[in-house]
This record gives sequence, structure tokens and C-alpha cells, in this order.
Amino acid sequence: MLSWTIGDVKVTRIVEFETPPMRGGGAGSMVEAGTPENILTIPWLQPHFADERGYVKLSIHALLVEAPGLKLVVDTCVGNDKPRAHSFFNNLQTAFLKDFEASGWRREDVTAVVCTHMHVDHVGWNTMLVDGKWVPTFPNARYLLGKTEWEHWSHHDGEGEHAAILADSVQPLFDAGLVDLVGMDHVLTPDVRLVPTPGHTPGHVSVLIQSRGKRAYITGDMMHHPCQIAHPEWSSGFDTDQAWSARTRQAFVADVAASEALVIGTHFPAPTAGRIVLDEGRYRLKV
Ligand SMILES: [Zn+2]
Repeated sequence: MLSWTIGDVKVTRIVEFETPPMRGGGAGSMVEAGTPENILTIPWLQPHFADERGYVKLSIHALLVEAPGLKLVVDTCVGNDKPRAHSFFNNLQTAFLKDFEASGWRREDVTAVVCTHMHVDHVGWNTMLVDGKWVPTFPNARYLLGKTEWEHWSHHDGEGEHAAILADSVQPLFDAGLVDLVGMDHVLTPDVRLVPTPGHTPGHVSVLIQSRGKRAYITGDMMHHPCQIAHPEWSSGFDTDQAWSARTRQAFVADVAASEALVIGTHFPAPTAGRIVLDEGRYRLKV
């Protein structure tokens, strides 16, 4: 189980699943410019983030943030038992909750949950199936959902899979009275706050941890893969607004490269975190 310490704050990674290396790129794909040919132009991606063919690797994981006065889960993956269109996500039966408990946390101890945005792989373990009903997995937590993000998705036309995702993974939280709709710069504690990183979705946020002079960011899907550090202009086919997400990434990468901040990638496979450095005119993730 990977973990990082940032001053008084500890972040632990709970993996739901990792993908085998996949041939990326193409219209509508995770990183549209992430073809094997383009990935191979970024040698430092191997061996952790790509293989020798230029196929990319991905992880779906939650990040547990323990800070003074806070036990926070950031992004809740896909979840078990959920009927989903994509075969990667459909009716998963993973050991996520067991692994969560193996980290020393109990579901009941979680005080807050943040979803960086409301896509299928970030809201799943908000709920779990008990006696045929979707109930909150973290019954004593406040679920901090972005007001802008919620307004975007709840005004969606209700067609397609997203309505089902909201119905089984978000609506039960409202029904249980556990939701706080928060601003994109919401402050959780003196050490942990949200920062707006829109573009992937209109209300997308990342999480900033600052403690004892140390800093770390949890990216969410502001970027999906470390190749987007070398090429912040490479947007995702899943972005609501690709030009906006590119601007957000460019600003983020330049800002973080000028600092000592740790970048913890929400979909980066192990080692998952590193520092952004400028190397011969191009940004790189130093792990
Ligand atoms: Zn995602």
C-alpha cells in the first residue's frame, strides 16, 4: 500500500484496479494524442507509466487523507455491483473495502468524502449495495460535492448512463442528508483545501495539502496520465472542454514545477506521485 507524508498529513492509496498496458490515442480516448508513437517520444514514462511498445498504464484508486481533525476519502472509484456500460466498470467485485480496512481505517471513522468530479470512476464507493438498496458506504461522513459540478450534471438531460450513475451513487447521499454542496475553493481544515481545476468538467476540483511548509496536490482528472506533464496541451476525449482543460493543465504544471510540491495522480499507476521538474525545456515527473 503506497503512502506519503506531507508535514502532519498522511495520504494512503487504496487501489481498486490497475489496467494492463493499453494502446492509447485516437478520437474520444483517454488522451487523444497518446498514441504509441507519441508516447515513445517521452522515454521517462517507461517503465512505470508506459511499456516498451508505448502502451499506457492506468490505475483506479482512492486516496485516504488523514490530517489533524480530518479523515477524508478523495474519489471513490467505480464501486462493486454497479451495472455499467463499459466492460471495465460493469458489475465489479473487487476487494476494495477489505483493502480499505487493511489500511487501518473503518468506514464509520471517515469524516469527509470529496469527489473531484462526478464521473463513473470517482463516485462509485459513495454507496454500496445492502439488501438490494444503495446505502452510503461512509455513514458518518459529510459528502462534499461541488455545487458547480452538481448543477452541471443534475441539469443534464437525464438520458444515458449518467442518470443511472447519479441515481445509485449520488442521490442516496442526498436522501440520507449527508451532502454539503461546496464551492470549488472550499477549505476543509487549515491543512486541506479544494482548488478549482476546471475543463475536464466545469466543476472539477483538485485537493491541495499544505502542512509544515510541505505541499502536495491530488490531481483528480485534471490530468489522466503523466504524458500530460510533458505535453499539458494533450487533452482527454473525456474532457467537457478540451481547450479549457489544456489551459488549466498548463498553468498547473508551470506553477508546480516552480515549487517543491508533490503531485499525486488520481490515475497514475505506482509509484503514483512525484515532483514536476523542467528538463531540457520540457516538463517531466520525477518519481
Ligand atoms: Zn477518472
